[in-house]
Amino acid sequence: MNILVLGPQGSGKGTQAGRIKATYGIPHIATGDMLREMRDVPDELGRELKEVMDRGDLVSDELMIELIRSRLSRGDTVAGFILDGFPRTMPQAEALDELLRELDRDLDIVFDFQVPDRDVLLQRMLHRAAEESRSDDTPEAIQRRLELYERETAPLVEYYRTHQANVVGIHADRTVEEVFGEIGRSLQSVEARA
Ligand code: AMP
Repeated sequence: MNILVLGPQGSGKGTQAGRIKATYGIPHIATGDMLREMRDVPDELGRELKEVMDRGDLVSDELMIELIRSRLSRGDTVAGFILDGFPRTMPQAEALDELLRELDRDLDIVFDFQVPDRDVLLQRMLHRAAEESRSDDTPEAIQRRLELYERETAPLVEYYRTHQANVVGIHADRTVEEVFGEIGRSLQSVEARA
């Protein structure tokens, strides 16, 4: 099962992706986690990543596409994967289409995590920042990430709809259990169709 999760920071998609991984035994490919590991290496790339990520900006499409190309080429993704945090821009979405074509694979489902109230997201992120005191979670960076999500990433939902992907909207402003229940039902109906 090849799954894509789209949604702003704070929408809970990472938590849900972890649950899907545990239930279905497919890898959770979270670009934010991959980049944080690379950022913490004391070299030139690590320093550049730190600057970009601390500002809440996006890492270059070129680097991201290379990263995903090599990750999706690994054998553990053959039975399926959960892509979380990529694509975030239109060029990334187009590159993913091409890569999946090359690998002769398709996205089975795209979850669109929706939290209509921007303030709810902001509060969640600020709360997490205070609890975990992460250097990349300053209020300015959080604002910037939300802005970039709305400008660069939210339009991808429409892109997937017009490319006939199976897009499922998720009301993410509920408990983890409720959201996972809905996700499980969608995945079961995908499996039933396969
Ligand atoms: P995340 O944990 O998914 O919120 O990602 C943390 C940070 O990593 C983001 O704020 C970006 O700076 C960077 N990042 C993660 N995925 C991407 C991507 N697909 N394109 C560009 N930057 C990304």
